[in-house]
Amino acid sequence: MGHTETSDWNNLLEYTEDGLIIVDRAYTIVAINDYFKSYYNRFFNMDLPVGGIILDYAIKGRDDLKAVYDQVFSGKRFEYNIEMSDSDGESSHFRLVYKPAFDSNQDVSHALVFVIDVSNEVNARIEIERSEKRLKQERNVLRAIIDNIPEYIYVKDTQGRHVVNNLKIYRELLGYDSEEQSLGKTVFDYFGDILAADYQDDDIRIMSTGEPIIDHEEAIVDQYGKKQRLSTTKIPLRDAQDNVYGLVGLSRNVTERYYKNLEDTFRSNLVAALSDHQDITTSLLDVLRAASGLLKADVGEIWLKSRSKPILYKIVDWCTEDRFRPFLSFEHIHFEHGSGLPGNVWREEASITIDNLESSPFFGDKVPIKQSGLTCGVGVSIINEGELVGVITLFSEESELDHRKRIEILERHCPFIGIEILRKQSKDMLEHFISSTPVMITTIGDDGYFKQVNPGIVTLTEYSEEELLSRPFASMIHPDDIESTSEVYAKLLQGVEIKSFINRYITKSGQIKWISWFTSPIPGNDELHFAFGNDITELIESRNQLHDLNENLKERNKELAVMNSELEQFVYIASHDLQEPLRMITSFLSLLEKRIADQLDDKSRQYIHFATDGAARMRSLILDLLKYSRVGREVTLKEFVNLDLLLKEVINLNMALLNEHNVHIAVGKLPNVYGIKSALFQLFQNLIQNAVKYRRAGISPKVTIEGEEHESFWKFTVKDNGIGIEDRYFDKIFIIFQRLHTREEYSGTGIGLAICKKVVDHHKGKIWVESVVGEGSAFYFTIAKDQR
Ligand code: ADP
Repeated sequence: MGHTETSDWNNLLEYTEDGLIIVDRAYTIVAINDYFKSYYNRFFNMDLPVGGIILDYAIKGRDDLKAVYDQVFSGKRFEYNIEMSDSDGESSHFRLVYKPAFDSNQDVSHALVFVIDVSNEVNARIEIERSEKRLKQERNVLRAIIDNIPEYIYVKDTQGRHVVNNLKIYRELLGYDSEEQSLGKTVFDYFGDILAADYQDDDIRIMSTGEPIIDHEEAIVDQYGKKQRLSTTKIPLRDAQDNVYGLVGLSRNVTERYYKNLEDTFRSNLVAALSDHQDITTSLLDVLRAASGLLKADVGEIWLKSRSKPILYKIVDWCTEDRFRPFLSFEHIHFEHGSGLPGNVWREEASITIDNLESSPFFGDKVPIKQSGLTCGVGVSIINEGELVGVITLFSEESELDHRKRIEILERHCPFIGIEILRKQSKDMLEHFISSTPVMITTIGDDGYFKQVNPGIVTLTEYSEEELLSRPFASMIHPDDIESTSEVYAKLLQGVEIKSFINRYITKSGQIKWISWFTSPIPGNDELHFAFGNDITELIESRNQLHDLNENLKERNKELAVMNSELEQFVYIASHDLQEPLRMITSFLSLLEKRIADQLDDKSRQYIHFATDGAARMRSLILDLLKYSRVGREVTLKEFVNLDLLLKEVINLNMALLNEHNVHIAVGKLPNVYGIKSALFQLFQNLIQNAVKYRRAGISPKVTIEGEEHESFWKFTVKDNGIGIEDRYFDKIFIIFQRLHTREEYSGTGIGLAICKKVVDHHKGKIWVESVVGEGSAFYFTIAKDQR
């Protein structure tokens, strides 16, 4: 068994920087350095003396410690770390290293126990572990963040290969299940050559210039073929040497916002287009422009349903360039239900999109399509309350992938367009009506002013619209009507509706116009009232004229009546009083003739004959005149007259005449009429006598008398088969003294029919003749049932 000198151990103790204790196989402490001592002292509050038995100082148990040393003595080496806390609570890490020491025989002679303060080492390791853990946590958080924020985030290397893709981009946009699958690829792999070329340009620029791009808007097609709008920011990544080694991209999906903006713009365009100060054609042209802009169309048309015919007619069309004109001008001007694109939209009452115009059945003539180069189209229906109002058709050269979304925007606004079209149509109509009617239409305020005036008032008053609105209306009213007008106006202000009020306005040029007014309240407005005025000046003037005329007529009638009665008086007196001298002339002439009969030669006898004959004719003239003037004098003698009996009397009295000429007379059933019997007798007798007098030579005269009842009068006919009367004399023959023949041809005074007319007049009737020369005449007359 070898021996090692204590001094050797001391060298070792000095040499080592760690704590060291040396124990022999008898567990005796043979050497210990200060470090170990102080270590023991510090933590266990014990001194370890050289020569002491180490087992006596065991901390955890003698046997355990002994087992440890025995292991070492058997040649094993081991080490372990311990953590110790001192009385101050400060903890330190130590490594305990147990090493066997061999003698020259290679037997274990001693155990060396090193205590090494590894606090720093351990702390550093813990620190690293900790920061690694933190790093991992942070990475996870970062990953969670980039995977969960609603933006597409990716990192590309200089070759454009994606080295980082967040969940949103690889899943939603690129369509991969994991990030790994999506990495190492470029836009060419993702989107195909055509689209990628566009996207790549930006990357190349950023890599070469090192300049970022901020909020660049780009259209992209996602894995489902849907068009998406991205707002992209790309920032170059630089290494320590400031070289660009890649870029980080951040894209926001602004598709919704984009279409929302598109819709907002379209809506405000529509509102502007349909504003009130534009007529319907201008409005619809603007609507068409807005719709074309929305759908990126090159050609557009609006068709409206006719109100009178079952057709759609074109109201406006529009195109971006003249080269599309042929397509428009080749189009039909109107379409029926089910014909062409508009007519089919009408039938479907839904939008129709056409991807290939040339193969569409709606276009019979393909030439204009070919010429214009248009490829696709859409027809959108404008419907209001289930009724088609019109159709918008739009055509373009290229079909856009987001067409559907844009059409939906248009469709959403079509009900609004429909209502506005109808509203404008009726508004236009109303405005046309208000401005073209001669009726004065105005709103009047409670301050005595017109607030709105239509052209009707301007025309009538001759004042301009400005003049009318800037002066109280009372200033234009006739002074005599101001009081009545203000009374009515006061009533109006109290809420009374004026149904009819007439006043006079004095026009700018000083003319007086009669106006008939009525008012109506304006719903929801207490301060204003509608007033409608009609120019009744002509009516009033003609009424006044008529009134004057009537007055004149009455005056004249009175005068005439006086004159008539004077005249009748005269005729009566004259004819009555003339009879006496006439009788004297006749009787003295015959006395003279008797007295000197033998002294008279033939000539003288003829003269006397002429004289008596003249006197006789004068007598019958006077008698007829007397008869004529008597008619109507006996008005008070009106009674019910049985005409059957009356006619019998007439016939009896004229029996000689009738027999002489072999007259065939036929009398129908006649009524009782209210009238003057003697006058009616005269009437029938004159007509019958004339029928006989103006008979045709060679045929026996035939007279037919008939009566016929009407609602308010009787109508009688006295018809003969005589010589007839030329129709130009139909009126003349009823005038007194008017004859168509000489006395030599037919005797008579020309008073007979005048008497007839007078009789009929007195019975509130009419008399007239119908006749054919050489065939006969029919005299008609009526007698009113009511003789009052
Ligand atoms: P007159 O004394 O001449 O008959 P009237 O007044 O009775 O006068 O008739 C006026 C004229 O009307 C007659 O001269 C005659 O030419 C014509 N006239 C009247 N009655 C008839 C008749 N029944 N047929 C043809 N002519 C008639």
